[in-house]
Amino acid sequence: MKQYNQQSLSENETEKPKFIADMMLGRLARYLRIFGFDVLYFHNISDEDLINKSKEEARIVLTRDSRMIDRKVFKYGKIKFLFINDDDVLKQLEQIKNEISLKLSINLIRCIECNQILKKVDKEKIKGKVPVFVYKSTDDFAYCSNCDKYYWKGTHLELMNKRFSHLLKSE
Ligand SMILES: [Zn+2]
Repeated sequence: MKQYNQQSLSENETEKPKFIADMMLGRLARYLRIFGFDVLYFHNISDEDLINKSKEEARIVLTRDSRMIDRKVFKYGKIKFLFINDDDVLKQLEQIKNEISLKLSINLIRCIECNQILKKVDKEKIKGKVPVFVYKSTDDFAYCSNCDKYYWKGTHLELMNKRFSHLLKSE
């Protein structure tokens, strides 16, 4: 089976690749966003639309769909893709980390739900909008205007349960 080829990436892409995940990889998309990666994900998208978005925006396709990668655009190297081998999100992250040499560290730049870049918020402005103990113990807050949702480092860390800690430590 044809796999993603690291040599074909430009230096810039190796720094911060962009992705589009297929319908089976919603959890993976969310976790990659916790690490700050630009990952498009749609609950409902045709193969054609997914392929077009990948081409237009130079996004690497992440897919569990062996039928889709049988298409000519994949076979003849017109699209960069990584066939994800496992259903377990931890193993999926490990595979991506190993095969694309990603650096994984939690950051607060991207909304986990919608992929939009977060805006920094002044602490004074969000008094009463987050739990009191969070307000007292945290200084850095960010906001997604698309989802009307506030983020702080704790939100991201809570989502990275202990299963994932070794992925972070090895950096
Ligand atoms: Zn959002």
